[in-house]
Amino acid sequence: PPSRLPTVGTTIFTVMSALAQQVGAVNLGQGFPDFDPDPALPQAVTEAMRAGHHQYPPMAGVPALRQAIARKVTSLYGCAYDPDTEVTVTAGATQAILTALLAVVQPGDEVIVLEPCYDSYVPGVELAGGVAVRVPLGEGFRPDFARLAAALTPRTRAIVLNTPHNPSGTVWRTDDLQTLWALLRDTDVLLIGDEVYEHMVYDGQPHASLATHAGLAARSFIVSSFGKTYHVTGWKVGYCLAPAPLMAEFRKVHQFNVFTVNTPMQHGLAACMADPAPYLGLSAFYQAKRDRFRAGLQRTRLRLLPCEGTYFQCVRYGELAVPERRLEETAFCEWLTREVGVAAIPLSAFYGDGRSQGIVRLCFAKRDATLDEALRRLARL
Ligand code: PMP
Ligand code: GLN
Repeated sequence: PPSRLPTVGTTIFTVMSALAQQVGAVNLGQGFPDFDPDPALPQAVTEAMRAGHHQYPPMAGVPALRQAIARKVTSLYGCAYDPDTEVTVTAGATQAILTALLAVVQPGDEVIVLEPCYDSYVPGVELAGGVAVRVPLGEGFRPDFARLAAALTPRTRAIVLNTPHNPSGTVWRTDDLQTLWALLRDTDVLLIGDEVYEHMVYDGQPHASLATHAGLAARSFIVSSFGKTYHVTGWKVGYCLAPAPLMAEFRKVHQFNVFTVNTPMQHGLAACMADPAPYLGLSAFYQAKRDRFRAGLQRTRLRLLPCEGTYFQCVRYGELAVPERRLEETAFCEWLTREVGVAAIPLSAFYGDGRSQGIVRLCFAKRDATLDEALRRLARL
Protein backbone atom coordinates (compact mmCIF):
# COMPACT_ATOMS: atom_id res chain seq x y z
CA PRO A 1 0.00 0.00 0.00
CA PRO A 2 1.13 3.62 -0.41
CA SER A 3 2.95 4.86 2.70
CA ARG A 4 2.38 8.13 4.54
CA LEU A 5 5.99 7.97 5.72
CA PRO A 6 7.85 6.18 2.91
CA THR A 7 11.38 6.87 4.17
CA VAL A 8 10.79 6.06 7.84
CA GLY A 9 12.22 2.89 9.37
CA THR A 10 12.69 1.75 12.99
CA THR A 11 14.17 4.55 15.13
CA ILE A 12 17.88 4.42 15.83
CA PHE A 13 17.10 4.40 19.57
CA THR A 14 15.23 1.11 19.29
CA VAL A 15 17.83 -0.37 16.95
CA MET A 16 20.78 0.50 19.21
CA SER A 17 19.04 -0.63 22.41
CA ALA A 18 18.23 -3.98 20.80
CA LEU A 19 21.83 -4.43 19.64
CA ALA A 20 23.19 -3.41 23.07
CA GLN A 21 20.98 -6.01 24.71
CA GLN A 22 21.87 -8.67 22.19
CA VAL A 23 25.63 -8.29 22.68
CA GLY A 24 25.57 -7.33 26.38
CA ALA A 25 26.95 -3.81 25.86
CA VAL A 26 26.68 -0.96 28.34
CA ASN A 27 23.79 0.99 26.83
CA LEU A 28 24.64 4.70 26.65
CA GLY A 29 22.57 5.00 23.46
CA GLN A 30 18.85 5.52 23.94
CA GLY A 31 18.14 8.22 26.51
CA PHE A 32 16.72 6.70 29.67
CA PRO A 33 17.90 6.24 33.27
CA ASP A 34 19.15 2.82 34.42
CA PHE A 35 18.03 3.63 37.99
CA ASP A 36 14.62 3.74 39.64
CA PRO A 37 12.51 6.78 40.49
CA ASP A 38 12.06 7.92 44.10
CA PRO A 39 9.90 5.16 45.65
CA ALA A 40 7.44 7.87 46.80
CA LEU A 41 6.30 8.18 43.19
CA PRO A 42 5.21 4.58 42.50
CA GLN A 43 3.80 4.59 46.05
CA ALA A 44 1.62 7.60 45.23
CA VAL A 45 0.41 5.78 42.10
CA THR A 46 -0.43 2.69 44.16
CA GLU A 47 -2.34 4.86 46.60
CA ALA A 48 -4.29 6.42 43.73
CA MET A 49 -5.26 2.92 42.60
CA ARG A 50 -6.26 1.91 46.13
CA ALA A 51 -8.38 5.05 46.28
CA GLY A 52 -10.25 3.80 43.20
CA HIS A 53 -8.89 6.12 40.50
CA HIS A 54 -9.35 3.65 37.66
CA GLN A 55 -11.72 5.33 35.23
CA TYR A 56 -11.34 8.04 32.58
CA PRO A 57 -10.13 11.35 33.96
CA PRO A 58 -11.30 14.61 32.34
CA MET A 59 -10.13 14.83 28.72
CA ALA A 60 -7.47 17.48 29.47
CA GLY A 61 -6.05 15.60 32.45
CA VAL A 62 -6.55 15.15 36.20
CA PRO A 63 -7.32 18.65 37.55
CA ALA A 64 -4.88 18.38 40.47
CA LEU A 65 -2.05 17.61 38.03
CA ARG A 66 -2.96 20.47 35.70
CA GLN A 67 -3.05 22.81 38.71
CA ALA A 68 0.34 21.58 39.92
CA ILE A 69 1.82 22.10 36.42
CA ALA A 70 0.40 25.64 36.20
CA ARG A 71 1.78 26.49 39.66
CA LYS A 72 5.23 25.20 38.74
CA VAL A 73 5.36 27.08 35.45
CA THR A 74 4.27 30.34 37.06
CA SER A 75 6.76 30.04 39.89
CA LEU A 76 9.69 29.18 37.59
CA TYR A 77 8.96 31.19 34.46
CA GLY A 78 6.51 33.88 35.55
CA CYS A 79 3.91 33.07 32.92
CA ALA A 80 0.32 32.31 34.05
CA TYR A 81 -1.51 29.38 32.42
CA ASP A 82 -5.14 28.61 33.30
CA PRO A 83 -5.27 24.91 34.27
CA ASP A 84 -8.80 24.66 32.86
CA THR A 85 -8.11 26.01 29.38
CA GLU A 86 -4.34 26.24 28.86
CA VAL A 87 -2.77 23.05 30.26
CA THR A 88 -3.29 19.55 28.81
CA VAL A 89 -1.74 16.32 30.07
CA THR A 90 -0.43 14.16 27.22
CA ALA A 91 0.91 10.67 26.67
CA GLY A 92 4.48 11.93 26.71
CA ALA A 93 6.11 14.78 24.86
CA THR A 94 6.07 12.95 21.53
CA GLN A 95 2.27 12.89 21.49
CA ALA A 96 2.13 16.55 22.54
CA ILE A 97 4.41 17.61 19.69
CA LEU A 98 2.49 15.58 17.10
CA THR A 99 -0.84 16.84 18.43
CA ALA A 100 0.30 20.47 18.24
CA LEU A 101 1.45 19.93 14.64
CA LEU A 102 -1.80 18.20 13.63
CA ALA A 103 -3.75 21.02 15.29
CA VAL A 104 -2.21 23.93 13.40
CA VAL A 105 -0.53 22.71 10.19
CA GLN A 106 -2.60 22.84 7.01
CA PRO A 107 -1.60 20.91 3.86
CA GLY A 108 1.36 22.63 2.24
CA ASP A 109 2.28 24.77 5.26
CA GLU A 110 5.96 24.99 6.01
CA VAL A 111 7.31 24.09 9.43
CA ILE A 112 10.91 24.95 10.23
CA VAL A 113 13.00 22.48 12.22
CA LEU A 114 16.53 23.28 13.36
CA GLU A 115 18.97 20.50 12.51
CA PRO A 116 20.22 18.35 14.11
CA CYS A 117 16.82 17.61 15.64
CA TYR A 118 14.90 14.93 17.48
CA ASP A 119 13.68 12.30 15.07
CA SER A 120 9.92 12.71 15.62
CA TYR A 121 9.63 16.30 14.36
CA VAL A 122 9.89 15.80 10.61
CA PRO A 123 7.57 12.75 10.41
CA GLY A 124 5.14 14.73 12.60
CA VAL A 125 5.15 17.63 10.16
CA GLU A 126 4.66 15.24 7.25
CA LEU A 127 1.77 13.39 8.92
CA ALA A 128 0.12 16.79 9.34
CA GLY A 129 0.46 17.35 5.57
CA GLY A 130 3.10 20.03 6.05
CA VAL A 131 6.50 20.53 4.48
CA ALA A 132 9.46 20.33 6.85
CA VAL A 133 12.08 22.99 6.18
CA ARG A 134 15.39 21.95 7.72
CA VAL A 135 17.51 24.87 8.87
CA PRO A 136 20.95 24.02 10.24
CA LEU A 137 21.96 25.22 13.68
CA GLY A 138 25.09 27.39 13.56
CA GLU A 139 28.56 27.20 15.06
CA GLY A 140 28.62 25.05 18.20
CA PHE A 141 24.99 24.03 17.57
CA ARG A 142 23.81 27.52 18.55
CA PRO A 143 20.80 29.09 16.83
CA ASP A 144 21.73 30.86 13.58
CA PHE A 145 19.18 33.65 13.26
CA ALA A 146 20.40 34.80 9.84
CA ARG A 147 19.64 31.36 8.42
CA LEU A 148 16.37 31.22 10.30
CA ALA A 149 15.34 34.62 8.91
CA ALA A 150 16.24 33.50 5.40
CA ALA A 151 14.05 30.40 5.76
CA LEU A 152 10.89 32.30 6.74
CA THR A 153 8.33 32.56 3.93
CA PRO A 154 4.65 33.51 3.77
CA ARG A 155 3.94 29.75 4.04
CA THR A 156 5.82 29.34 7.34
CA ARG A 157 3.27 28.17 9.87
CA ALA A 158 5.48 27.19 12.79
CA ILE A 159 9.01 26.64 14.05
CA VAL A 160 9.93 23.71 16.30
CA LEU A 161 12.50 24.72 18.92
CA ASN A 162 14.29 22.48 21.42
CA THR A 163 16.18 23.76 24.46
CA PRO A 164 18.05 22.18 26.24
CA HIS A 165 18.93 20.54 22.96
CA ASN A 166 18.96 16.85 22.12
CA PRO A 167 21.50 15.73 20.86
CA SER A 168 24.02 18.58 21.30
CA GLY A 169 23.36 19.54 24.94
CA THR A 170 23.40 23.28 24.11
CA VAL A 171 20.90 25.66 25.71
CA TRP A 172 19.31 28.86 24.47
CA ARG A 173 20.20 32.15 26.19
CA THR A 174 17.68 34.77 27.25
CA ASP A 175 19.18 36.93 24.47
CA ASP A 176 18.23 34.30 21.91
CA LEU A 177 14.57 34.70 22.85
CA GLN A 178 14.87 38.48 22.29
CA THR A 179 16.42 37.91 18.86
CA LEU A 180 13.72 35.39 17.99
CA TRP A 181 11.06 37.88 19.06
CA ALA A 182 12.54 40.61 16.85
CA LEU A 183 12.37 38.15 13.95
CA LEU A 184 8.80 36.97 14.52
CA ARG A 185 7.01 39.94 16.07
CA ASP A 186 5.48 41.08 12.79
CA THR A 187 4.60 37.58 11.56
CA ASP A 188 1.96 35.09 12.65
CA VAL A 189 4.44 32.20 12.88
CA LEU A 190 3.68 29.83 15.77
CA LEU A 191 6.24 28.07 17.98
CA ILE A 192 6.39 24.55 19.32
CA GLY A 193 8.87 24.54 22.19
CA ASP A 194 10.24 21.12 23.08
CA GLU A 195 11.48 21.74 26.64
CA VAL A 196 11.57 18.17 27.95
CA TYR A 197 15.03 18.76 29.50
CA GLU A 198 13.93 22.01 31.22
CA HIS A 199 15.19 20.81 34.62
CA MET A 200 18.64 19.75 33.38
CA VAL A 201 20.66 22.92 32.82
CA TYR A 202 24.16 23.18 34.24
CA ASP A 203 26.66 25.65 35.67
CA GLY A 204 23.98 27.95 37.06
CA GLN A 205 22.51 28.92 33.70
CA PRO A 206 18.76 29.52 33.61
CA HIS A 207 16.45 27.57 31.33
CA ALA A 208 15.33 30.07 28.68
CA SER A 209 11.76 28.78 28.46
CA LEU A 210 9.49 30.33 25.86
CA ALA A 211 7.23 30.89 28.89
CA THR A 212 9.65 33.55 30.18
CA HIS A 213 8.89 35.80 27.17
CA ALA A 214 5.31 37.05 27.08
CA GLY A 215 5.31 37.85 23.36
CA LEU A 216 6.69 34.46 22.37
CA ALA A 217 4.56 32.55 24.91
CA ALA A 218 1.43 34.07 23.35
CA ARG A 219 2.17 32.09 20.15
CA SER A 220 3.71 28.96 21.64
CA PHE A 221 2.88 25.39 22.45
CA ILE A 222 5.33 24.46 25.20
CA VAL A 223 5.93 20.76 25.77
CA SER A 224 7.54 18.89 28.66
CA SER A 225 7.81 15.29 29.84
CA PHE A 226 7.50 13.74 33.29
CA GLY A 227 9.52 10.82 31.96
CA LYS A 228 12.68 12.92 31.98
CA THR A 229 12.04 14.85 35.18
CA TYR A 230 11.00 11.92 37.39
CA HIS A 231 13.14 9.12 35.87
CA VAL A 232 10.09 7.31 34.45
CA THR A 233 10.45 7.39 30.66
CA GLY A 234 8.26 4.30 30.33
CA TRP A 235 5.27 5.98 31.94
CA LYS A 236 4.81 8.22 28.90
CA VAL A 237 3.19 11.18 30.63
CA GLY A 238 3.91 14.76 29.61
CA TYR A 239 2.08 18.00 29.10
CA CYS A 240 1.45 20.88 26.77
CA LEU A 241 0.91 24.56 27.63
CA ALA A 242 -0.62 27.07 25.23
CA PRO A 243 -2.82 30.17 25.28
CA ALA A 244 -6.52 29.24 25.33
CA PRO A 245 -7.30 29.73 21.60
CA LEU A 246 -4.34 27.53 20.57
CA MET A 247 -5.10 25.01 23.31
CA ALA A 248 -8.71 24.74 22.11
CA GLU A 249 -7.40 23.56 18.71
CA PHE A 250 -4.88 21.25 20.40
CA ARG A 251 -7.63 19.61 22.44
CA LYS A 252 -9.78 18.96 19.37
CA VAL A 253 -7.01 16.70 18.10
CA HIS A 254 -6.08 15.30 21.51
CA GLN A 255 -9.68 14.23 22.14
CA PHE A 256 -9.74 12.00 19.07
CA ASN A 257 -6.16 10.85 19.30
CA VAL A 258 -5.76 9.60 22.88
CA PHE A 259 -8.78 11.30 24.53
CA THR A 260 -7.20 10.95 27.99
CA VAL A 261 -4.00 9.79 29.65
CA ASN A 262 -3.93 7.01 32.26
CA THR A 263 -5.48 8.16 35.55
CA PRO A 264 -3.39 6.64 38.39
CA MET A 265 -0.07 7.95 37.05
CA GLN A 266 -1.53 11.45 36.87
CA HIS A 267 -2.67 11.31 40.50
CA GLY A 268 0.73 10.01 41.56
CA LEU A 269 2.57 12.76 39.69
CA ALA A 270 0.23 15.42 41.10
CA ALA A 271 0.97 14.24 44.65
CA CYS A 272 4.73 14.30 44.05
CA MET A 273 4.68 17.74 42.41
CA ALA A 274 3.54 19.23 45.72
CA ASP A 275 7.23 19.14 46.63
CA PRO A 276 9.37 21.17 44.19
CA ALA A 277 12.64 19.71 45.54
CA PRO A 278 12.90 16.85 43.00
CA TYR A 279 12.72 19.05 39.91
CA LEU A 280 14.62 21.95 41.50
CA GLY A 281 17.41 19.54 42.44
CA LEU A 282 17.59 17.71 39.13
CA SER A 283 20.20 19.98 37.54
CA ALA A 284 22.58 19.44 40.47
CA PHE A 285 21.93 15.68 40.37
CA TYR A 286 22.76 15.41 36.67
CA GLN A 287 25.56 17.98 36.77
CA ALA A 288 27.43 15.68 39.18
CA LYS A 289 27.00 12.80 36.70
CA ARG A 290 28.03 15.00 33.79
CA ASP A 291 31.18 16.08 35.63
CA ARG A 292 32.11 12.52 36.62
CA PHE A 293 31.53 11.30 33.07
CA ARG A 294 33.40 14.16 31.42
CA ALA A 295 36.36 13.76 33.77
CA GLY A 296 36.52 10.08 32.79
CA LEU A 297 36.17 10.81 29.07
CA GLN A 298 38.99 13.33 29.30
CA ARG A 299 41.28 10.42 30.11
CA THR A 300 40.33 8.72 26.80
CA ARG A 301 41.15 9.71 23.22
CA LEU A 302 37.57 10.82 22.62
CA ARG A 303 37.18 14.60 22.25
CA LEU A 304 34.44 16.22 24.33
CA LEU A 305 31.94 18.71 22.98
CA PRO A 306 30.37 21.17 25.45
CA CYS A 307 27.38 19.97 27.52
CA GLU A 308 25.28 22.77 29.01
CA GLY A 309 22.09 20.79 29.56
CA THR A 310 20.22 17.48 28.87
CA TYR A 311 21.67 14.10 29.90
CA PHE A 312 23.65 13.70 26.69
CA GLN A 313 27.35 14.15 26.05
CA CYS A 314 28.60 14.31 22.46
CA VAL A 315 32.13 13.21 21.57
CA ARG A 316 34.33 13.19 18.47
CA TYR A 317 36.05 9.88 17.79
CA GLY A 318 38.42 10.85 14.96
CA GLU A 319 41.55 10.80 17.17
CA LEU A 320 41.17 7.28 18.52
CA ALA A 321 44.13 4.96 18.08
CA VAL A 322 42.09 2.35 16.16
CA PRO A 323 41.41 2.14 12.39
CA GLU A 324 37.67 2.26 13.11
CA ARG A 325 38.06 5.99 13.86
CA ARG A 326 37.54 6.44 10.10
CA LEU A 327 34.16 4.70 10.01
CA GLU A 328 31.04 6.77 9.42
CA GLU A 329 28.97 7.32 12.55
CA THR A 330 26.43 4.51 12.25
CA ALA A 331 29.06 1.90 11.42
CA PHE A 332 31.25 3.26 14.22
CA CYS A 333 28.38 2.94 16.73
CA GLU A 334 27.72 -0.61 15.63
CA TRP A 335 31.40 -1.48 16.00
CA LEU A 336 31.60 0.30 19.37
CA THR A 337 28.60 -1.65 20.63
CA ARG A 338 29.74 -5.06 19.35
CA GLU A 339 33.49 -4.87 19.89
CA VAL A 340 33.98 -2.38 22.73
CA GLY A 341 30.72 -3.05 24.53
CA VAL A 342 29.42 0.52 24.73
CA ALA A 343 26.31 1.58 22.78
CA ALA A 344 26.06 5.16 21.48
CA ILE A 345 23.84 7.07 19.06
CA PRO A 346 25.24 8.45 15.77
CA LEU A 347 24.58 12.18 15.33
CA SER A 348 23.67 11.43 11.71
CA ALA A 349 20.32 10.10 13.01
CA PHE A 350 19.33 13.70 13.76
CA TYR A 351 19.89 14.93 10.17
CA GLY A 352 17.70 14.47 7.13
CA ASP A 353 20.68 13.76 4.88
CA GLY A 354 22.29 11.37 7.37
CA ARG A 355 25.63 13.21 7.18
CA SER A 356 28.49 11.85 9.24
CA GLN A 357 30.76 14.29 11.14
CA GLY A 358 32.56 11.79 13.36
CA ILE A 359 30.40 12.62 16.40
CA VAL A 360 28.37 10.26 18.61
CA ARG A 361 26.04 10.91 21.56
CA LEU A 362 26.43 9.19 24.92
CA CYS A 363 23.71 9.22 27.60
CA PHE A 364 24.92 9.78 31.18
CA ALA A 365 21.56 9.20 32.93
CA LYS A 366 23.12 6.10 34.47
CA ARG A 367 24.31 4.79 37.82
CA ASP A 368 27.88 5.80 38.58
CA ALA A 369 28.91 2.14 38.34
CA THR A 370 27.47 1.96 34.81
CA LEU A 371 29.31 5.11 33.75
CA ASP A 372 32.55 3.85 35.27
CA GLU A 373 32.27 0.51 33.45
CA ALA A 374 31.64 2.32 30.14
CA LEU A 375 34.66 4.57 30.81
CA ARG A 376 36.86 1.54 31.51
CA ARG A 377 35.90 0.09 28.13
CA LEU A 378 36.33 3.38 26.27
CA ALA A 379 39.75 3.99 27.82
CA ARG A 380 41.12 1.01 25.86
CA LEU A 381 40.65 2.78 22.49
N1 PMP B 1 11.78 15.48 22.69
C1 PMP B 1 13.06 15.24 22.95
C2 PMP B 1 14.08 16.27 22.59
C3 PMP B 1 13.44 14.04 23.56
O1 PMP B 1 14.71 13.78 23.78
C4 PMP B 1 12.44 13.10 23.89
C5 PMP B 1 12.76 11.81 24.59
N2 PMP B 1 13.78 11.11 24.07
C6 PMP B 1 11.12 13.40 23.59
C7 PMP B 1 10.82 14.59 23.00
C8 PMP B 1 10.02 12.42 23.89
O2 PMP B 1 9.58 12.44 25.19
P1 PMP B 1 8.46 11.42 25.65
O3 PMP B 1 9.13 10.14 25.98
O4 PMP B 1 7.84 12.07 26.84
O5 PMP B 1 7.49 11.27 24.53
N1 GLN C 1 14.38 10.64 23.40
C1 GLN C 1 15.22 9.50 23.64
C2 GLN C 1 16.59 9.76 23.06
O1 GLN C 1 16.84 10.76 22.44
C3 GLN C 1 14.69 8.22 23.04
C4 GLN C 1 13.26 8.14 22.83
C5 GLN C 1 12.95 7.02 21.86
O2 GLN C 1 13.44 5.93 22.03
N2 GLN C 1 12.18 7.32 20.88
O3 GLN C 1 17.43 8.92 23.23
